[in-house]
Amino acid sequence: MFVSWIISTTRGLLMLLAIAAVLSFGLTGTPADSFEHQRRQMVTRQLRARDIVDTHVLRAMETVPRHLFVPKDLRHLAYRDTPLPIGHGQTISQPYIVALMSQLLAVSKGQRILEIGTGSGYQAAVLAEMEAYVFTIEIIPELGRQAIKAIHPLGYGNIQVRIGDGYKGWPENAPFDAIIVTCAPSSIPEPLKNQLAEGGRMVIPVGEKSYQQLLLLTKQGGEIKQEKIVDVRFVPMVDKKGKAY
Ligand code: SAH
Repeated sequence: MFVSWIISTTRGLLMLLAIAAVLSFGLTGTPADSFEHQRRQMVTRQLRARDIVDTHVLRAMETVPRHLFVPKDLRHLAYRDTPLPIGHGQTISQPYIVALMSQLLAVSKGQRILEIGTGSGYQAAVLAEMEAYVFTIEIIPELGRQAIKAIHPLGYGNIQVRIGDGYKGWPENAPFDAIIVTCAPSSIPEPLKNQLAEGGRMVIPVGEKSYQQLLLLTKQGGEIKQEKIVDVRFVPMVDKKGKAY
């Protein structure tokens, strides 16, 4: 009798523990404060609630662990609606801007994409998650190496990082189906226009230091059409001496 009481109480206790676990972890098995949970909230509140509708973009942003691309002491802020510093005076863009630029590129599987301004490597990882081949160029060698370190353990074999000046593009791998520029020149670099494939799309912030316009360029019949999307603020595109283009 006593023994069976102990057994049934232990069972009861285990049941209670299990219920408590389900309640605190939610039905998905994710603790309410985990990065995965924060990532899902980011997608719902910052992307779906605005104008991000491309399911490939939404899925990629829900998958790529953004917190692994920011400095360790800022990980708790990784899913906030804001850009964050990544060292050397540079920033990782706000999640919404990463999603918007990815959506404007209309990425499809197997496409070749050139990115200028690797920074943390996060934007490159989002495009790689969408099964594109990503060629990305970073001018600050330490940042380029840091990005490779962040990308490598995630197993994206479809990203190539080059350290150098992206103004000139990557002629050996041109033409590209899409080009994404995440630093701002004062006008559109000619080499990038030339390296865009027929039917290709380029998303680029263009303007002065404190204020730029995000442009979507499309190449049709050798002609480039230009559409203004939104006002933005990116770090300037610079040459190896640090002089702004
Ligand atoms: N896409 C990045 C954010 C980029 S911040 C991310 O997902 O984290 C802009 C980056 O452009 C900086 O790292 C800066 O060093 C780089 N940059 C500036 N001028 C450049 C140039 N001429 N060529 C390549 N990278 C450049």
